[in-house]
Amino acid sequence: MASAPGAPVSDGAEESGRLEPWRWSERTWRAVVDRVRAGRALAPRSWPGNARFAVALSFDSDHETNELRDGGRSIGRLSWGQYGSRVGVPRIERLLERWAVRASFFVPAVSALLYPEEQRRLAGAGHEIGLHGWIHELNAGLAYEDEKDLMLRSADVLEEVCGRRPVGMRTPSWDFSPHTLRIAVEMGLRYDSSLMADESCYELLLDGQPTGVVELPVEWVRDDAAYFLMHRACALRPYASPESVFDVFRRELEQAAAEGGLFQLTMHPHIIAVRSRIWILEELVRLAKANGAWFATHGEVVDYVRDAGID
Ligand SMILES: [Zn+2]
Repeated sequence: MASAPGAPVSDGAEESGRLEPWRWSERTWRAVVDRVRAGRALAPRSWPGNARFAVALSFDSDHETNELRDGGRSIGRLSWGQYGSRVGVPRIERLLERWAVRASFFVPAVSALLYPEEQRRLAGAGHEIGLHGWIHELNAGLAYEDEKDLMLRSADVLEEVCGRRPVGMRTPSWDFSPHTLRIAVEMGLRYDSSLMADESCYELLLDGQPTGVVELPVEWVRDDAAYFLMHRACALRPYASPESVFDVFRRELEQAAAEGGLFQLTMHPHIIAVRSRIWILEELVRLAKANGAWFATHGEVVDYVRDAGID
């Protein structure tokens, strides 16, 4: 018996929780795969102002929630979060202002409550403030009711702080539960930016049905944290030099320009904005401008690809 699209728990999901994967029926593994999929591509043939390609820069303002999410109380790690707001965001803001570029900031509700002025300043400068969970919780561990409650409360907080209800989300740690997309549909969100099925935007399908929610895809290779994140209790230390990370980002950008596509980048204020790395962002902006980029917030890119003439 097939579940209705978007039902909280499908038969397949139930069986997949009970049985070892090699015992799953084809119906079960198909249901797991089909829960959230990429639908029609939203890759326009041209960009506004005859720009050669599109650039969507994003910053995840996790701040103290990186420590709080796991119930941590480390004063050292909390100070790292404070650095993100105290030094990181202002340095990024100045850079973006210098180059007249707007970007998207994805902000957990707890970060917004800790630093409401920061969000108001960013929103006032034309940047987008998007959803990024309540306290950077992992969605996959939540019941449907809890996840929806947190997403609604987070949207309320961002709206109250910024004066504008967020239109898009980036899930914390890019973590999706089987219910996340359904909740986004119920909330009327226009887009998500946490999944990886393409390099161009696409419409998200829920149990095979088009949802109208657009995905603006991310990738670990285009995330500063994948190269630079440091945890004192972990033997694996940041291994990449700023030059080598810049080289990866540069190649991603140049290929996107060559294809007339979209270059999306995920950064974190406490990671990218340190003195030895902020040049990476500046060089990318310089390079993108030299290559005829259209810079836009994630929300603007999504609105454009949705309305553009698509194949
Ligand atoms: Zn985050």
